[in-house]
Amino acid sequence: MAENNPCDILTSDWNPIIGCQRYSPGCKSCWWFDGIMPWQQRLGNLPKDLQENQALVIEKRFDPKTLRSKRGIIGVVQHGDLFWDKVDDEVIGRVLDMVDADALSRTEKNKKKPDSEADQTKYILWTKRAERMADFMTKRYPKGVPKWLGCGVSVENQKLADERLPHLMRVNGWRFVMIEPMLGRVDLSAYIQQSDWVVVGSETGEEARDIELDWVRLLRDQAVEHEVPFFIKQVGKSHKKPERQLDGREWGEFPQGFNKSSGKRK
Ligand code: SF4
Repeated sequence: MAENNPCDILTSDWNPIIGCQRYSPGCKSCWWFDGIMPWQQRLGNLPKDLQENQALVIEKRFDPKTLRSKRGIIGVVQHGDLFWDKVDDEVIGRVLDMVDADALSRTEKNKKKPDSEADQTKYILWTKRAERMADFMTKRYPKGVPKWLGCGVSVENQKLADERLPHLMRVNGWRFVMIEPMLGRVDLSAYIQQSDWVVVGSETGEEARDIELDWVRLLRDQAVEHEVPFFIKQVGKSHKKPERQLDGREWGEFPQGFNKSSGKRK
């Protein structure tokens, strides 16, 4: 899916659980509810009677082979929000158990390979339910989130940034800020020094709300000043032909060690 799409930060995704509930203004045109879920239902991959506001655990996707077959940068639970309150702690734990076991298995296999062929696959998840994520990750990983897993929080304006990002900063590990859809100016000066990555994107679609390039410039300048990798997914309304240029340059930086091609067979 995403590997050859320069707007996408992921190589692939893994969705052993699905489901969410519209939560804040950025959810108005949720791509999962409005696009992927009906499409997957038409294909017969999801039950036809699956509704919004319903969590579904897909047991066959907990087969370790499903995760083993992926690589690069894997989005964990992209078809919903892992930290939605209808997802039980036990299910979140099972998802992270799979991630950790898969990463450790790759680490073992790497011992038999030259460094140049090592599989440095990473896993990332992001949520709007920042408080629950921070509480969960702190309890599960008291010594810090493993280096193979990045934790992100999605915000769409300054008010939500100030509500959610203090929780992200409690996570001891890779932290990234996802501002998509960007619906207002966001000043990250209180958070940028503790962030490992800033990703920004406009809303897309016919009814997309406007983004202002000056909002994006502010983030770029803050990221550059503090040497934080910066990624623009798109700044226009088209998803099919995304506009990614800002002042004559495309921004597609990743944190060190995050490589969409990692693990690719040569
Ligand atoms: S939190 Fe994400 S998945 Fe859930 S409704 Fe909002 S945009 Fe959709």
